[in-house]
Amino acid sequence: MKTEVRILFRSDRIQEGPRALLDTVRCGPDVAELDEGAIFTIVTLDERDERLPRLLHLLTERGASWLERRYDCFTDEELESARLLIMSYDVNAEVFGGPQEGTTYDMSEACKRCGAGARQTSAMILDGEYLHRLEGRRAAMTFKDDMLVDEKLSGALAESGATGLSFRGVFAAFEGRGHLQLPWRQLCATHTLPRMSPRSTGISPYNPCPCGRSSFAGKEEVPMRLAYRAADVADIRDINVTWEWFGEAKFDGDVSEALFPNPLFLVTPKVWRIFRDAGVTGFDWIPIRVEDG
Ligand SMILES: [Zn+2]
Repeated sequence: MKTEVRILFRSDRIQEGPRALLDTVRCGPDVAELDEGAIFTIVTLDERDERLPRLLHLLTERGASWLERRYDCFTDEELESARLLIMSYDVNAEVFGGPQEGTTYDMSEACKRCGAGARQTSAMILDGEYLHRLEGRRAAMTFKDDMLVDEKLSGALAESGATGLSFRGVFAAFEGRGHLQLPWRQLCATHTLPRMSPRSTGISPYNPCPCGRSSFAGKEEVPMRLAYRAADVADIRDINVTWEWFGEAKFDGDVSEALFPNPLFLVTPKVWRIFRDAGVTGFDWIPIRVEDG
């Protein structure tokens, strides 16, 4: 595993120009994205790279602020030997779907304030405006981490003997023109994990709900590392969701106007291999850590 740091700063805030600054710290095109006329310059370095503190020092000296994201990168061998992998999807390729598009939910066991625990009861309905984002894809996620797979991949998953999964239909809704069934399936998890260990890092509750289950969010500057106690992952399936629900919540009792938080998808390396062999792109796979005892 290595941890990479992505630094993003405004090119026009550097008096001598971003190229001259990057030359000073010897950051070439292998680590820097620098397009003439682009608003931002992006530099990606290993967190142990000695050029990183020098770059940040120079930016500080120039009075330039920057955004920083840290994330872990893994080899195939490390993914293969993980107990569970968090699936995260390219935010620029997400499609919109859920309660506001007409998907229905049973709220009888959900939190009345944030909607965490909402149980989907219908097919997944997507906003038809976003269908182009599914083109050329075998799998995708909605902006609320609902997992979508094409028919062939859903068949491969069903035949693989993978445990803890069920499927729902997927429809697109078009303003005033009804619904169209898509050759896709929603991949649903039947198993919810216990609470994660408090030693997980890179997540933090913001605007916490009294239910304690929602409003978790990633933290850009800290790599997301989910930890579970060994006993809590003794009884997993190939597909699981977290007990904790992430992201923004807006719920006043009206499901059709709601924005629910969502659990994360955690899967075994078996599922990763099926996605990999199907040529699926757009996902990051991050192993969980298992604590002893
Ligand atoms: Zn709540």
